[in-house]
Amino acid sequence: MNAYVQRVLDTAIANNPNEPEFHQALTEILSSLSEVFDAHPEYEKSQILEMLVEPERIIAFRVPWVDDNGKVQVNKGYRVQFNSAIGPYKGGLRFHPSVNISIIKFLGFEQIFKNSLTGLPIGGGKGGSNFDPKGKSDGEVMRFCQSFMAELYRHIGSETDVPAGDIGVGGREIGYMFGYYKKIADEHTGVLTGRGLEYGGSFVRVQATGYGLVYFMEEMLLCNGSSFDGKTVVVSGSGNVAIYAHEKATKMGAKVVAMSDSGGYIYDKNGVDLEAVKEIKEVKRGRISDYLNYHPEAEYHKGCKGIWTVPCDIALPCATQNELDLESAEILVKNGVKAVGEGANMPSTNEAVKYFMEHDVLFGPAKAANAGGVACSALEMAQSGMRIFWNFDEVDSKLQHIMTGIFHNIADAAERYGKGKNYLDGANIAGFEKVAKAMMAQGVV
Ligand code: NDP
Repeated sequence: MNAYVQRVLDTAIANNPNEPEFHQALTEILSSLSEVFDAHPEYEKSQILEMLVEPERIIAFRVPWVDDNGKVQVNKGYRVQFNSAIGPYKGGLRFHPSVNISIIKFLGFEQIFKNSLTGLPIGGGKGGSNFDPKGKSDGEVMRFCQSFMAELYRHIGSETDVPAGDIGVGGREIGYMFGYYKKIADEHTGVLTGRGLEYGGSFVRVQATGYGLVYFMEEMLLCNGSSFDGKTVVVSGSGNVAIYAHEKATKMGAKVVAMSDSGGYIYDKNGVDLEAVKEIKEVKRGRISDYLNYHPEAEYHKGCKGIWTVPCDIALPCATQNELDLESAEILVKNGVKAVGEGANMPSTNEAVKYFMEHDVLFGPAKAANAGGVACSALEMAQSGMRIFWNFDEVDSKLQHIMTGIFHNIADAAERYGKGKNYLDGANIAGFEKVAKAMMAQGVV
């Protein structure tokens, strides 16, 4: 590795102890940039990397709320405003018991490059809480969201920082947070994306990450002499990203045979019935095991990792970070997988990614493949700013255009640096170049 890049990586890891996910993201991204620094000594002269690996601001706060039994509960809240070189901070809020500063920093760091790849003017940020919405009443979720926003509101704004959803934060949570922001800030602005269509949201935002993933992968497959048509697909997770990845892959002629949640996975050789999954997950907020009530002939297996033992042509990990490790990658390759597209953020470990590349599996890295959600969020911001409303087809075709453009942008960067079909390096390089140029232009700030 380029000596300067290695030095910054080592120092960043030493300066941020006990943050394994952040270390993993730093290692993954910086490892791709060696040749760029070899070719551009001006970046080292400006010490651009030291600035890039340090968040511009980290906000950590207490979130107290009262549960349905009248008992006070206290959670942790975070917002990491990582980089605003190319636009206002933009990135989701995650509500999940596993959330900690390491996870928010890895997500925020990745978000800088992803947002850069969309070609839209958005910087990188991420936030969340260790609050678990699962099993909570609507009233509890509302009181939590209001308390969270009672602190967050002073740090965000439509030109400053525009959060969105992520794991555990869907339309319900965005609605409660937006309502409370409007009350205390006394303004109805585009401060959050993922809003309902009735109050400033955009068509396709709900579908955007899943649809975008499939648009990206289809372009990658077409450019490599293949497509979704007639393929067998495994999609992990059964949340927002997974459901709409299934929907679009099926529309493109594929058959999705397995889906999962954190408890286990279902296998349906006839193709997973998406309407049943939508009813279980979106309406009833149930478990994927409930699928057997709709299709007793299908199989349910405990343990979500087992989903990677299901033979498939294309694997779409859409649940969470590090859900696909080396052992799973080996099984997938042994079973003949041809392409992997990351719907979730950093779902594959660095070892698994390396294994896929070594075995000529086409690999669509998260920061490119799942950029459809944030791209559509930026389209929502544009519509809010202009006070106009594009219809479903208009937004959908812009999304498709952005996702195919991202593929060609990263393939071109990979080509320029002699990386062949290493689209991970291509994505890191293309994302980095734009941010670095913007940072250099703006001086030491
Ligand atoms: P949801 O909350 O809608 O769904 C998450 C899914 O992943 C659920 O099926 C959940 O199962 C499963 N899951 C969560 N944690 C774990 C875990 N530790 N082990 C196994 N399964 C788990 O989230 P999204 O669909 O919105 O997000 C999924 C991924 O996509 C995340 O990595 C997110 O960062 C990424 N992403 C999301 C975007 C968006 O627009 N929503 C945009 C870009 C990336 P269970 O219900 O059992 O917890």
